[in-house]
Amino acid sequence: MSEKCLVFATGNQGKVDEFKQMLGDDYTILSMKDLDVDVDIVEDGKTFEENAIIKAKTVMEATGKMVLADDSGFEVDYLNGEPGIYSARFMGEDTSYDIKNAELLRRCEGVPDEKRDARFVCVIACAFPDGRVETAKGVIEGKLAHEPKGENGFGYDPIFYLPERGCTTGELEPEEKNAISHRGIAIRRMVEILKKEGKA
Ligand code: IMP
Repeated sequence: MSEKCLVFATGNQGKVDEFKQMLGDDYTILSMKDLDVDVDIVEDGKTFEENAIIKAKTVMEATGKMVLADDSGFEVDYLNGEPGIYSARFMGEDTSYDIKNAELLRRCEGVPDEKRDARFVCVIACAFPDGRVETAKGVIEGKLAHEPKGENGFGYDPIFYLPERGCTTGELEPEEKNAISHRGIAIRRMVEILKKEGKA
């Protein structure tokens, strides 16, 4: 185990593994499960940044360790940024994405392409035990599609269209998506911050 360790405040092992792979051996990354911490996190921020910071700080205070947390979502300009920070909760956590996606498309029916700007946003926050916080943001710009396409990815991927690629993120292979995605960009930025921190 490396002497520097950090906790990734997520229940999603895929996110922990992805981050581990990109950070290399400088840090040992622990999940909430590894530490057996069970804290109540009240995600009541108004922005992705605020929510990522709330999650990272709450777990840092409970563990005394350096903690990473992320918050992400899908924004549609024509819907004033909805579903935004409520992306997971939009129409209810348990509602299928087939239904959520159909509803977003229905609300934008007939809206021309120039008004269909949309994006995925991801913010990763790192809370240090001395109280400092750093954040890294990644954004991928595109359009709300006219119909769902693609079996890959998850969530809103089938309705997020990339004009320069001529397909949705739901039609990209996982490696192709990671190379350009909001999460990939935010992770790479946070890795840079942590590498500098490690050398300090
Ligand atoms: P969380 O940050 O893991 O809570 O993700 C918030 C929500 O944003 C997810 O449940 C999805 O609805 C949406 N979302 C975030 N990133 C993506 C993505 O890469 N593809 C599709 N949906 C996403």
